Amino acid sequence: MRAIGLDVGGSAVKAGAVDGNGERRVETVRHLPPGVDFEQLIAFVGEIAEELGPADRVGVGAPGLLDREAGRILQSPNLPWLPAGLLRARVAAAVGLPESSAVLENDANAAALGEFWLGAGHDCDDLLFVTLGTGVGGGLILDGQLVIGAGGLAGEIGHVKVDPRGEPCGCGGRGCIETLASATAARRRALHAGLPQEAPGDLKRLNDRASSTPGPERDLLRAIGYDLGYGLSSALNLLDLRTYVIGGGFSAALPNLLPGIREGFRAGSYGQRTADVRVVAAGLGPSAGWIGAARAALLI
Ligand SMILES: [Zn+2]
Repeated sequence: MRAIGLDVGGSAVKAGAVDGNGERRVETVRHLPPGVDFEQLIAFVGEIAEELGPADRVGVGAPGLLDREAGRILQSPNLPWLPAGLLRARVAAAVGLPESSAVLENDANAAALGEFWLGAGHDCDDLLFVTLGTGVGGGLILDGQLVIGAGGLAGEIGHVKVDPRGEPCGCGGRGCIETLASATAARRRALHAGLPQEAPGDLKRLNDRASSTPGPERDLLRAIGYDLGYGLSSALNLLDLRTYVIGGGFSAALPNLLPGIREGFRAGSYGQRTADVRVVAAGLGPSAGWIGAARAALLI
């Protein structure tokens, strides 16, 4: 069995093919030009399929709210053109497969599956994947199964509340993890703290400075880590979950976030369980999404 996986993101489609054992991986990428639309995406998928060769299954991971029955994206804040068509059916057709051989999954859930299968979580039964980017996404695996919940929204750790009087969140709530520990939140907090003076909002520079010398940059990342760990302790309390895999662009700051994450876990957790908590960097990098999408397809 061989599956193609596709990860539709804001600026590119990352794709690849992999066999049922997780071996013979090949990958490719198509950058999405400005003004791209749904039909152009499908044309790219056709090109990708030709490049990757024959497959028995295809999986697609995409950002947004899913209609799993219809196999389409209902709403995608970052890719407003994505709901324009029946994504699962059109991707299947572009690859030359029946729709019954195709699967559509939320991008963070797909990445969680990828990390669980071949990445940082390959040796455990349960994990929470947390992606720190523009927002904070998540995917939950329990007993080896992706948990999607009744409405498909399980695992949305980014909207677990840390501070009921905190900043408003895009979800309509306040003080969600996303408002405190996303890349967007980190930029806002850096500006609020007057950092870094010469390049406001430059997280790479902020992180480099935090790595090289103690000071306000390191303190800020520790504080952000604390809020993240405090929020993640809800998953520990609710599910006794011990493995947390951190991905997304802002996860490059993980070594500097980690001391705070551990403090936050300790402050928020019930009982003395934090010694067994593993907070690890994602192992598949930008390939997690397509690998997980392929995995979801292999599990059909
Ligand atoms: Zn929220």
